[in-house]
Amino acid sequence: MAFDFNATDFYDPGSYAKETSRIFDICNGCRLCFNLCPSFDVLFKRIDELDGEMDKLTDKDTKKVVDLCYDCKLCFPKCPYTPPHKYMLDFPRHMIRGKAIEAKKHGVTLQDKMLSRTDLLGTVSTKAAPIVNWTMESKPFRILMERTIGIHRERNLPKYSSQTFRSWYKNHKKSEARSNAEVAEKNNRREDSPKVVFFHTCSVNYNDVDTGKAAIQVLEKNGVQVEVPPQKCCGMPYLDGGDIDNTKKHAAYNLSQLAEYVKKGYDVVSPGPSCSYLMKQDYPMLSQNPDAKLVAAHTFDMMEYLAKLNKEGKLSADFKESQGNITYHLPCHLKAQNIGFKSRDVLELIPDTNVEVVAKCSGHDGTWSLKKENFKMSLEVGKPLFEKFTDGTAAASDCPLAQLQIEKGSGAKPRHPIQILRDAYGLEQDPKE
Ligand code: SF4
Ligand code: SF4
Repeated sequence: MAFDFNATDFYDPGSYAKETSRIFDICNGCRLCFNLCPSFDVLFKRIDELDGEMDKLTDKDTKKVVDLCYDCKLCFPKCPYTPPHKYMLDFPRHMIRGKAIEAKKHGVTLQDKMLSRTDLLGTVSTKAAPIVNWTMESKPFRILMERTIGIHRERNLPKYSSQTFRSWYKNHKKSEARSNAEVAEKNNRREDSPKVVFFHTCSVNYNDVDTGKAAIQVLEKNGVQVEVPPQKCCGMPYLDGGDIDNTKKHAAYNLSQLAEYVKKGYDVVSPGPSCSYLMKQDYPMLSQNPDAKLVAAHTFDMMEYLAKLNKEGKLSADFKESQGNITYHLPCHLKAQNIGFKSRDVLELIPDTNVEVVAKCSGHDGTWSLKKENFKMSLEVGKPLFEKFTDGTAAASDCPLAQLQIEKGSGAKPRHPIQILRDAYGLEQDPKE
């Protein structure tokens, strides 16, 4: 049976155990994912220890495999047995089901509760950003955080911005200083000009505001009409902690905001690969509302959308500055979207710009590597990627968490490809309004 978040036996331990045996048995016969992540490594080693006697695998063995899954999704596009194959195998979502059953049984952990409240943390922290950022750097506070909520003391955390993206955008829209840009925008805009709803993501709203500014600048430069309706976290951090109810609530809220625009001809564009993945792939599985499929069909990752504009002959080639050599990390949640190398394709439109793609997992993966029990392993997972970022070449990644992880592992400071494109157009960096 296909994976179903809404199945009546979703939380039933017996049904879960039966499905686990079925999936592990198929994987044991296949082993294609043997070197993909710690989950498969532990699973196959344990099966070998048991001389292949699958019925000797215990609940503890299963829990270990589940806990080690960081939901990178890489096993899904690789697997020959995913739907519509008759095996209907969905390894990553089955891992999420394991976490969800655990959370239902024992309650969502304090750690996962804290890590998933991105909107609450962001709203509070941006109001006192300098103090919060300073405190987050302080060793005694990090030790306290590690002891109380289990965030590893050496995990580099994103800095909070004093101004949210939403507040910048509000000023940007009404600023008189924008009149020149508006004239240019209107000249560019035709009746049939493209229209998008910008799903900014929590990371852009509270931490990496400049990526959001660059996205708006580039979209406006290309005559795209942009709307930024109210929105909440996509729900991915809740899913990471097995909190399906809250993931569904967030999906329902965002769908209620986005669907009306899609019905009026807008596309949804997001600069966060995990968020665009969730909206495209999981919203239609989480929500039984037909709007979920509609929104998913019209959702694009930021650079995927620009590649689409280029294909339609609507992307400006008015580049002012070449960008030289760029080492670009393809995030797992973009790879899993099966859309090719859209960021590379768009960046290589800039004259004298060469992009080397590195498609390796950073090991950060949502909230997984923040946890003290996973942090060291996450750096091991990311090692082959970090090695590609040590030669001083300009670095890029679409994923804000992979950016942090690459910085931690190599010292390079990757930027979102949209920031590089904004520079190539010669547009102002970090505009105030
Ligand atoms: S989603 Fe990623 S971490 Fe989880 S089992 Fe698949 S490859 Fe491993
Ligand atoms: S997830 Fe699919 S490809 Fe990977 S080991 Fe299992 S059956 Fe094979």
